[in-house]
Amino acid sequence: MPAKELDQIVNLCKRRGFVFPSAEIYGGFRSSYDYGPLGSLMLRNVKDAWVRTMVQLRDDVVLIDAAILGPPQIFEASGHLANFSDPLVDCTVCKRRFREDHLEDRDCPQSKKGCEFTESRGFNLMFKTVAGPVEGSGAEVYLRPETAQGMFVNFGNVLQTSRKRPPFGIAQVGKSFRNEITPGNFIFRTREFEQMEMEFFVPPADSAQWYSYWCTERLEWYVNLGIPRDMLRLRPHDADELSHYSAGTSDVEFLFPWGWGELEGIAQRTNYDLTQHSTHSGNKLDFFDQATNERYVPYVIEPAAGANRTMAAFMLAAYDEDIINDEPRTVLRLHPRLAPYKVAVLPLSKKETLTPLAKKIYADLSNRYMVDYDETQAIGRRYRRQDEIGTPLCVTVDFDSLEDNAVTIRERDTTQQARVAIADLMGELTLRLGF
Ligand code: ATP
Repeated sequence: MPAKELDQIVNLCKRRGFVFPSAEIYGGFRSSYDYGPLGSLMLRNVKDAWVRTMVQLRDDVVLIDAAILGPPQIFEASGHLANFSDPLVDCTVCKRRFREDHLEDRDCPQSKKGCEFTESRGFNLMFKTVAGPVEGSGAEVYLRPETAQGMFVNFGNVLQTSRKRPPFGIAQVGKSFRNEITPGNFIFRTREFEQMEMEFFVPPADSAQWYSYWCTERLEWYVNLGIPRDMLRLRPHDADELSHYSAGTSDVEFLFPWGWGELEGIAQRTNYDLTQHSTHSGNKLDFFDQATNERYVPYVIEPAAGANRTMAAFMLAAYDEDIINDEPRTVLRLHPRLAPYKVAVLPLSKKETLTPLAKKIYADLSNRYMVDYDETQAIGRRYRRQDEIGTPLCVTVDFDSLEDNAVTIRERDTTQQARVAIADLMGELTLRLGF
């Protein structure tokens, strides 16, 4: 049974230490969240899985890590200073502010009846701050609203140093900031979030073909990591939704408890960004193809995903409740690559005779995997906890282990158990986890 309510996931996140409201001891800070011991591992696994697919398993994409703070020139050229705004309306009855394009039938979600909206106005979503030690004399700088510009402004540097040529991509994972008018739906929309973006530079004539290639590849990434296909869809934007530079955009959407929501946008950005930065900076950002003796400005296909939203989607899709031995259990059927812990080592009892062997197994396995170690409570309750946090495999060390040099592997999804020689344990876990 997939999670029907967002509340089920929000509660699990709080109870087990995945996600906490930011600044909770001061009453909370609604627009951002803190990732706890398990959530920080899982978020990192989401980002690592993306880098693995997009960079490690390909020979045509490189990774960069650009600065979060940027001078106004970047955002002048990119169009963000002029255009990166959402339509803001005020309700004069309840005094709240809304994004006009999120209102259904122009009904105020708060005051319902008797709502009175002001005219909508463009509200720029960028966070501005001041760099420099002297108050009042500092330079205005911006927190990046997307990671993409880092790839465009470094196009020349990467081209010169990486030995890549179109078609090739520059990828980046990192924080972005948007002063969202209405943050909400848990970690779906926050003012500080992480993106996983790739700019794929291609010869102009090949851009349509690469666009359709990336739409397919990106949808499959979510399926391969465990989201059922019927909870995903690829939605092409209508002509009136397209950004002025876009020749086509499709969103990968997930069926959230409140309806379809975007996980990722795949956009054909033409040569807009490189041309803009070329013009504004006075530096040529193009490619000379020695084979054809032609110089051209590459076209760009951009798959742009959000790590936090995606993590929420993976959790919602994995959430399940079933009955084991007449007892209800909650289980997070996460793909092993995404699970915070791959394995938990559980000595059957806290008795000192078991500890040295259990700790040795834990240390050996930790060299290779993120492993939990837990010797509190009854074993059944410890299994339940591992099920609920998505740990695919438990390794139980019992008193027989001291005699037969074997342990029990228990599977999260089936709860089936198998006895395995300690000497074969690593191989057996590798087989079952798939890596
Ligand atoms: P939305 O329409 O939901 O505001 P967007 O179309 O503006 O999103 P993009 O600019 O395409 O988003 O950004 C790429 C991805 O970054 C999104 O698909 C989403 O996963 C993520 N993202 C964007 N804004 C936020 C946010 N405020 N909080 C969390 N993730 C975000």
